[in-house]
Amino acid sequence: MATISEQLDAGLAHHRAGRLQDAEAAYRSVLRCDSNHADGWHLLGAVACQAGRVEEGVEHLRRAIAISPDAGVFHNSLGNALRLLGQTDAAIACYRRAVECQTDLGEAHKNLGQTLSAAGRFREAAESFQTALRLRPNDPEVRQSLLNAALNELIWAQCPPESLTLRISTESSRIRENSGSGLVSGPCETPPNSHEFGYSQLQRPQSAASPAPQYDLVILVPYRDRLEHLRQFAPHMDRFLRDKLSFRLVVIEQAFGAPFNPGKLRNVGFHLHRDDADVFALHDVDTLPMDESCDYRIADRPMHLAGRASKYGGRLPYPTFLGAVLVLRREHFEAANGFSNHYWGWGREDDEFARRLWSSGIIWGNRPGLYQSLEHPASNLNSRNDARLLEFLRGERDWRADGLNSLDFQVTRSIALREFLDQPDLAAQHRLVTVDLGTPD
Ligand code: UDP
Ligand code: MN
Repeated sequence: MATISEQLDAGLAHHRAGRLQDAEAAYRSVLRCDSNHADGWHLLGAVACQAGRVEEGVEHLRRAIAISPDAGVFHNSLGNALRLLGQTDAAIACYRRAVECQTDLGEAHKNLGQTLSAAGRFREAAESFQTALRLRPNDPEVRQSLLNAALNELIWAQCPPESLTLRISTESSRIRENSGSGLVSGPCETPPNSHEFGYSQLQRPQSAASPAPQYDLVILVPYRDRLEHLRQFAPHMDRFLRDKLSFRLVVIEQAFGAPFNPGKLRNVGFHLHRDDADVFALHDVDTLPMDESCDYRIADRPMHLAGRASKYGGRLPYPTFLGAVLVLRREHFEAANGFSNHYWGWGREDDEFARRLWSSGIIWGNRPGLYQSLEHPASNLNSRNDARLLEFLRGERDWRADGLNSLDFQVTRSIALREFLDQPDLAAQHRLVTVDLGTPD
């Protein structure tokens, strides 16, 4: 007959190898020998959570804590389980208790930071990540999380809390604007006068009236070298939207050479197809709408749709996130002067765009749709764009002079998407435009 510690070791070996049922059987036999075995309850709880039985896992974890109330790792595990159940405040309390019991528990500081970030409490999150980084100086994820929390705190620090609540409120909540354009006055800065936006380098023909838009919606997709995703995305969107609204997919492909610049690509797509529709969706190619909760109809204000993407565990990674899928009107995009043209490489251009909208007095809402995120290798994090965002936040760069009105590019190819993909069933109006964006300044 194996001793308790041998049974526990056997359980751990199964557990580490991913054999959850065998691990569970071993932990249960430990607990049959000693029903007060705190580690046994803890591990049984962990295994139940991993097997998807989170509520049962919580009960086991609570038993472990009842036996050993000062074990930091137990509180940390309970925090993880409660976070899975969406009980954010309770999870935060558990992580706080975990680091109180065991101040050098880096994992719990990191989890605390992540949970606070997801709740929009960026300042407290940054403090937790700072402590985590002292304990784990070589953990790149903690370093990046600290930077993200600090930047988010800076982005939104000057904004009164009531506007933050308003901005992140869901569509069904109490506040709705009725102004026709969705331009409501913002508390930070006066909304810029749209007449200030002349196209300096790219003069638009001054026709008296714009032609009537041909489509309900133009979907702008910045793109390079994700062919397998595009082959899934394009027919999926045709099927998904077929009976709902008329739309044109515009894939703006960046020619090889310079680092990828998704913000500038969106500006180009918007510039070229400005008159095709009144409404635009800024869409990633790797994010597929799954059901009717993904609603592309416009409201008075911009709507963030990708609130339940599988990549982020079905929730927003942070409350002010507006990446992946955003629907907005032509006036919204123009009031923000589009995106900055200077974010070469991964990320941050969308955070700056959020602040541009807000500075223009435009407050967006969330309409959390269920999306499937297609897999791809993690993008390299780009400190150059973090530095750009800091320049913007410090007011060192004038966003009103960087965007749609300072766009330079060259179209090198324009082709029907169905021809490019060799998918003859795709709707004929979808386009792929290849552009040379120049090189980083
Ligand atoms: N993208 C692309 N090629 C690249 C990088 C990005 O086409 O090499 C486009 C694509 O539409 C993608 C979007 O930009 O969905 C966002 O980039 P990514 O998926 O790398 O960002 P993350 O998933 O890290 O948010
Ligand atoms: Mn992606």
